[in-house]
Amino acid sequence: MTKTATSKSLRLGIIAHPVAHSLSPILYRAGCAAVGLEFGGGSSGDSRGVSFELFDVLPEKLSAFFQRMRDGEIDGVAVSVPHKEAVIPLLDIVDLRAREIGAVNTVRVRCADGANNARGGARKITLEGYNTDWLGVQYALRDALIHSGKKITTWKWKNAFVIGAGGAAKAVACALREEGAHIFFMNRTRERAEEMAKKFGGSVVTLGGEAGNIPSTFDLVVNATSVGLESDESPLPISFWEEHGNGVAFDCVYRGAKNAGRSGDRGHIGALTRFLREADRAGWAMVSGETMLIGQAVEQFFLLTGERVEASVFARALSE
Ligand code: NAP
Repeated sequence: MTKTATSKSLRLGIIAHPVAHSLSPILYRAGCAAVGLEFGGGSSGDSRGVSFELFDVLPEKLSAFFQRMRDGEIDGVAVSVPHKEAVIPLLDIVDLRAREIGAVNTVRVRCADGANNARGGARKITLEGYNTDWLGVQYALRDALIHSGKKITTWKWKNAFVIGAGGAAKAVACALREEGAHIFFMNRTRERAEEMAKKFGGSVVTLGGEAGNIPSTFDLVVNATSVGLESDESPLPISFWEEHGNGVAFDCVYRGAKNAGRSGDRGHIGALTRFLREADRAGWAMVSGETMLIGQAVEQFFLLTGERVEASVFARALSE
């Protein structure tokens, strides 16, 4: 049985390196407030609440950290860069999608007898890994349909261009395959794009490549690279947007709550990356990485606390 916040206090957190800029505490604080759980304390084992810690874990310390989870010290964690792939061999059960995507962003501790695993005797603890990023993409894709201004009502048979071949791109490809889209892949390292096309179905394209290699119009273009995270750059030339129709541009990159350039007034939250700004100027609709983050947070919060929170709670927390 999984310990839930409604039964006992939960000790949760995020593991990453570095971890200081994580938005997770903002989201978990808002989620707890929405469902009436005490946030911050709650690690005494007696009160009904959630403590959420930032665990800065170096790659070489990852297995020691997971031993702490096996010892029942921690009840669940969000997993971020650079550990999403490395945690997989340390888990007992890995959800099917997480295995396919090759990345785990949520680890839940299950305790054989359902008792408080932190303070009991010998109990069998199982570590379960999930990927909620692809569910965040599903949420963002639904949001994208709304933002397309009814131009697009389904992703089935639509042309989707996915740039990147890392964990985020695989989450995007997984969700788009479920939707029945035609997927076109491009990546700096072409072999990785070829692996994506083989795994999820689709074709590899090159910009300015041989005639007929790239469709003349796209309904969706996704930046699933890390370009735009640290600097104001786009993985596409500005001319791309005028030349390939005007569908929806979705940037997986999110820049954090403190960044300027929000466009909440247009029913959309998120930092305006260069990718989104240039698409917007050419008449494309926009969906931000924050939207994906919110969608994945809804599912992760449920997995780790057993409580369902409306996406609007997290959206509000990020825009404050
Ligand atoms: P990753 O596994 O490290 O993959 C990075 C990808 O970006 C690779 O395809 C890489 O190409 C490409 N890339 C890196 N630098 C590049 C450059 N200068 N030019 C062209 N391509 C470049 O990272 P990830 O986990 O997939 O994350 C990608 C982005 O998505 C990050 O910004 C991350 O913050 C974001 N993300 C957002 C959410 C969300 O909830 N919104 C969730 C997960 C991730 P190569 O294969 O050639 O190296």
